[in-house]
Amino acid sequence: METLEFQAEARQLLQLMVHSIYSNKDIFLRELISNASDALDKLRLATLQDGLEADASDLHIELEADTEARTLTVRDNGIGMTREEVVDLIGTIAKSGTAELLNKLREAKESPELIGQFGVGFYSTFMVADKVTLTTRKAGTEGHGTRWESNGEGTFTIDDAPDAPVGTSVTVHLRPKDEEDALYDYTETWKIREIVKKYSDFISFPITMGEDTLNSMKALWARPRSEVTDEEYHEFYRHISHDWSEPLEIINMKAEGTFEYEALLFLPSRAPHDLFQRDARRGLQLYVKRVFIMDDSRELIPDYLRFVKGVVDAADLSLNISREILQQDRHIQMIRRRLVKKVLSTIKDLLNNNAEKYATFWREFGRALKEGLLNDQDNQKAILDVSTFSSTAGSEPTTLAAYIERMKEGQEEIYYLTGESRSQVENSPHMEAFQAQGYEVLILTDPVDEIWVEAVPDYEGKKLQSVARGSVDLPKDKEEPEPEGDFAPLLTFLKTQLEEQVKDVRLTHRLTTSPACLVSDADDITPALEKMYRAMGQEGPRVKRILELNPNHPLVSGLRIAHENRADDSALPETAELLYGTALLAEGGDLEDPARFAKLLADRLARTV
Ligand code: ADP
Repeated sequence: METLEFQAEARQLLQLMVHSIYSNKDIFLRELISNASDALDKLRLATLQDGLEADASDLHIELEADTEARTLTVRDNGIGMTREEVVDLIGTIAKSGTAELLNKLREAKESPELIGQFGVGFYSTFMVADKVTLTTRKAGTEGHGTRWESNGEGTFTIDDAPDAPVGTSVTVHLRPKDEEDALYDYTETWKIREIVKKYSDFISFPITMGEDTLNSMKALWARPRSEVTDEEYHEFYRHISHDWSEPLEIINMKAEGTFEYEALLFLPSRAPHDLFQRDARRGLQLYVKRVFIMDDSRELIPDYLRFVKGVVDAADLSLNISREILQQDRHIQMIRRRLVKKVLSTIKDLLNNNAEKYATFWREFGRALKEGLLNDQDNQKAILDVSTFSSTAGSEPTTLAAYIERMKEGQEEIYYLTGESRSQVENSPHMEAFQAQGYEVLILTDPVDEIWVEAVPDYEGKKLQSVARGSVDLPKDKEEPEPEGDFAPLLTFLKTQLEEQVKDVRLTHRLTTSPACLVSDADDITPALEKMYRAMGQEGPRVKRILELNPNHPLVSGLRIAHENRADDSALPETAELLYGTALLAEGGDLEDPARFAKLLADRLARTV
């Protein structure tokens, strides 16, 4: 027999379990049954796909309670574990994000959803046990089984178990019942029945106790919606998603005819912590005629809808289909297209009929959904239809359709400005004339916004136009005075002075209160996009922008006169630099040489005090 230590993080987590931070202790049984069901799925798959020689004809989960000994045993004849697997899988927490979980758990006393989200599964037994014994033997391996035992306090023992049958048996040595602490007598038949019925009814293998089978085994997706309670759907959602919170929306689908399939999908109500991590779990569960085939099937749903959880049960696929074949399967591609349409139409329904749910959805998943504008050309329009954006017209996000309805007479384009935050965008000089003349501008502040706006030319025939790009042909404000004098020499002078920084200098109607701003040329990429490309390691020539001047600003008109009178004044080149730097700062940009700018400014101020 060998005594080993739990890995540090596992130890911390166990501490939390032992000292029971969590009021619903019943769920330990759900976790054990869920693990057993997974092990049965794995065994069946291994016989179908890897040619494992094992008996898969009578897969089941047995529960055995001993009132005298105060033990509850959950036994499966599934895939089992080798000795190494027991040490690895049960002794450590391999999952990323565990440190984060521990911190959060320490902050929040009552956080069932966190436990669910990270799937601490097996360890939850220590909420009710003072000792847990696990005996297991891996299917298809020579030699003996393994016995693992622990009281949850830092160490566990590992030993050989010569007589262990294939599969896994977990015996929970129950702590004394304490109903005040929601610790029930888990050897009582009625309590066990209640828990199985509530949490595990849909498990597709029989869960037996003595002669009785406790669960109905009915595949939830195959039952008419009217016959399934919300509670059942929610339990099933928890089982497949490991997310404790209730789903936002449930989607049933059924197709008959040449290619039959059924699907049960869920829109979660909360984004997982790893929604934007590349290695996160994603995809749907694939079943073939009620038989579980694989988890995380990415072929069934595009990446931008990776938050959708659920099951697809296809009738006409081979049971030993591989991921490689799935990728090319025409039927799978067809199902995927239908699922996308259905999910988008469900979101549209929320938008039209349930503002509150839609707002939750958009807050949690809007950023992911917008990736589809880049990656799913076919559904670009449908995605735009259900997208909403912040706008200068109010604090509520708006659809593009509503924006178009509000467009001013003669306005042909949908105006937007990208930036890092609402206040940065709102206060950007590029906005001035639009604000002054009452044109609505969309405020786009997600990183993905910088990219998709490049890929989407228009919506309902209206071009999307950045107010920081090209020359915007706003009708001239009537009250705006004609600039006096000839600016051409000044513009030429500035262009030469700022040759390194800008590609052109010109006058604009865009500004009302600022002296100057920088705009991108119509076909050039924006500075934010340039920065992103650089961050991704793609070097390119620096893209110069255009300096636009407000001829009615005293600084600009004064500069014109100064240049006209004393073109060789040594202060003028510095003024040009200050003007450029100010325009850059006003839009929230970064000066190339802030120290030099500060010095020029301080010197200039010193002359005026
Ligand atoms: P999770 O189920 O979320 O992965 P657990 O802590 O419950 O986390 O289990 C850790 C791992 O131990 C499982 O992923 C599985 O590989 C293995 N395991 C647990 N229970 C069983 C079982 N009854 N049969 C085979 N393997 C199991």
